[in-house]
Amino acid sequence: MITVKNLNKYFGDLHVLKNINMDVNRGEVVVVIGPSGSGKTTLLRSLNILETPEEGEITIGKQSVDFSKPLKKAQAVDFRKQTGMVFQNHNLFPHFTALENVMEGPVTVQKVSKAKAQERAADILTKVGLGEKLDTYPHQLSGGQQQRVGIARALATGVEVILFDEPTSALDPELVGDVLDVMKELAEEGMTMVVVTHEMSFAEEVADRVIFMDQGKIVEEGKPEQIFHHTNEPRTQQFLNRIR
Ligand code: ATP
Repeated sequence: MITVKNLNKYFGDLHVLKNINMDVNRGEVVVVIGPSGSGKTTLLRSLNILETPEEGEITIGKQSVDFSKPLKKAQAVDFRKQTGMVFQNHNLFPHFTALENVMEGPVTVQKVSKAKAQERAADILTKVGLGEKLDTYPHQLSGGQQQRVGIARALATGVEVILFDEPTSALDPELVGDVLDVMKELAEEGMTMVVVTHEMSFAEEVADRVIFMDQGKIVEEGKPEQIFHHTNEPRTQQFLNRIR
């Protein structure tokens, strides 16, 4: 579903992604972990071309982008349509209700009729446990509920891949569980997911595969059991010891 080849990204002199190679299969949940500043968010944002790497290729579904060639705007727009993104700070439109926030993508990007978009948005919000909050504005929702609207919005355009960038790290601890439950449900339904998170218990329970990054490189990847309990990589051990 996703193939990343020899990806390199610089911010000025800082080499942030160093020859990243990865594959994500359809229906797979891949969790990316690693110390602060290791490049996790930059990698995730590159998958949606919110960051533009200088070198390398990314293929998602049937579309490929080769960053060594000039990137046309229309190509980036088409590429981006294949994935939904859930950010740390949900980025909801404050003057739109939950329903309007979820309808926005299908209506403006996909030109779906308002009636159809509304029906589908209501279904998706019900699915994430917000069927009673359709007409509520973001400021009237808890952080966890806002984040679930964010997930509903990412799902609304019918994408096959969702990219989660630390979706629970801005939430009060008691609100984290509801958001992770929605993510678990999506995983069980076979959604392809790449998740950057510091929630190690989620990674252990839900990930099919865990990628450990350090200083812009993928140090190792494997099943959660391997990474969390049987790693021989000193850097992984050091990281896990620090957070446990
Ligand atoms: P965290 O867990 O703290 O979110 P991360 O692993 O997601 O960290 P990134 O956010 O990808 O790390 O950042 C990787 C490196 O790139 C860091 O050194 C960061 O300071 C730098 N960086 C990120 N975004 C920019 C930017 N827009 N301009 C310059 N440097 C940046």
